[in-house]
Amino acid sequence: MKSVIIVGGGLVGALHACFMAQRGFKVDLYEMRPDIRTLEVVRGRSINLSLSARGREALRRVGLEDIVVQTGIPMYARMIHDVDGTRRPIPYGKKDQYIMSVDRRHLNEVLLTEAEKVPNVTMHFEHKVMECDFDKGTVSFRKNDGSVVTATADLIVGCDGAFSGVRQQIMKKTLFDYEQVFIPHGYMELNMPPAAGDHFAMEVNYLHIWARNEFMMIALPNQDKTYTCTLFMPFDIFRTLTTKEAVRKFFQDTFPDSIPLLGEEYVTETVSTSKALPLISVKCSPYHVKDKAVILGDAAHAMVPFYGQGMNCGFEDCIVFDDLLNKHNNDIGATLAEYTETRSVDAKAIVDLALYNYIEMRESVNSRMFLLRKKLDNF
Ligand code: FAD
Repeated sequence: MKSVIIVGGGLVGALHACFMAQRGFKVDLYEMRPDIRTLEVVRGRSINLSLSARGREALRRVGLEDIVVQTGIPMYARMIHDVDGTRRPIPYGKKDQYIMSVDRRHLNEVLLTEAEKVPNVTMHFEHKVMECDFDKGTVSFRKNDGSVVTATADLIVGCDGAFSGVRQQIMKKTLFDYEQVFIPHGYMELNMPPAAGDHFAMEVNYLHIWARNEFMMIALPNQDKTYTCTLFMPFDIFRTLTTKEAVRKFFQDTFPDSIPLLGEEYVTETVSTSKALPLISVKCSPYHVKDKAVILGDAAHAMVPFYGQGMNCGFEDCIVFDDLLNKHNNDIGATLAEYTETRSVDAKAIVDLALYNYIEMRESVNSRMFLLRKKLDNF
């Protein structure tokens, strides 16, 4: 039985564990955080995410599409909020086409639980990757008590996110091209409660967008009838919003219809006291080292979230990898070489598209040409 060490038990690592376990590999998954299924509060990135066709296909392959879709909320169109309070929908495609708002934590938990159902899977939480030896196929991890353990496998897979420790090891030890960009915009999440009578505060099957050219706010619905709103804005503007009065004026000028929905006290307090988080974009190559290691998901291609494809693309990585293992009859060396060759080109294109879509979301949805084009598309 071939063995694999997966570093990172986030969305992509947990899904990849399902793929590898179902293939019959011996899987050891190492995650630096505690098991999120045991935590009351999970800190981290966006609370919900949009799941699209490529992500659903990957979930279908491991038998999880139905269980995830049951708890998601379809979004058939963008709902644009103008400053004067006008709302206008812009469909994503034909009437029955939609993307889906899913809860990040729930999705991660479902994936971990599914992977663990297979007896050849062992999970090791609170293990942080320290060093990899790509000749021997070993990885050493620091546990929370300070002790270090070393594991060996036929394949090491880095699914440890945008600041990947496995990628750092590859960078130190091989010839590796790497490019990272922090964009001038940060993000801050706000929670919009249900309206009186326990209803959604806005039309539910939409991804709401307040597009204001230089910045924007979006909102995705949650199962508990709340919305998670995300404010994307240059850090320079966030830095001016340090008092409640400044936030009140800013929201009155730019997102006036959102104030009663979010609650004036909540929004002024939260924005004036919270820190906006950075957004990183990563391109690199190759994705693999000999026949020993590979990186998937954000570790290989972190992208800004404006195309809603970071996770979806990471999920698609798992499909591409699985198909190549089939094609090469589980020959790891041949699979890794073809994986880098085919996947890095596509992933780099999506990283660029994600940056482009920021302009479309915050600016072009307001332009006459865009509206005309959409009208014709939907005719
Ligand atoms: P991560 O989710 O970052 O998981 C990495 C895991 O590795 C974590 O559990 C971490 O604890 C662990 N880890 C890290 N370092 C180590 C280490 N040294 N040792 C051991 N373990 C380690 N994508 C979409 O498709 N749709 C969306 O709508 C969407 N919205 C987004 C909104 C925002 C605001 C942001 C920031 C991102 C969004 N994304 C979206 C992108 C998406 O979040 C990522 O693409 C996705 O989380 C990548 O999954 P991953 O498993 O590769 O990395």
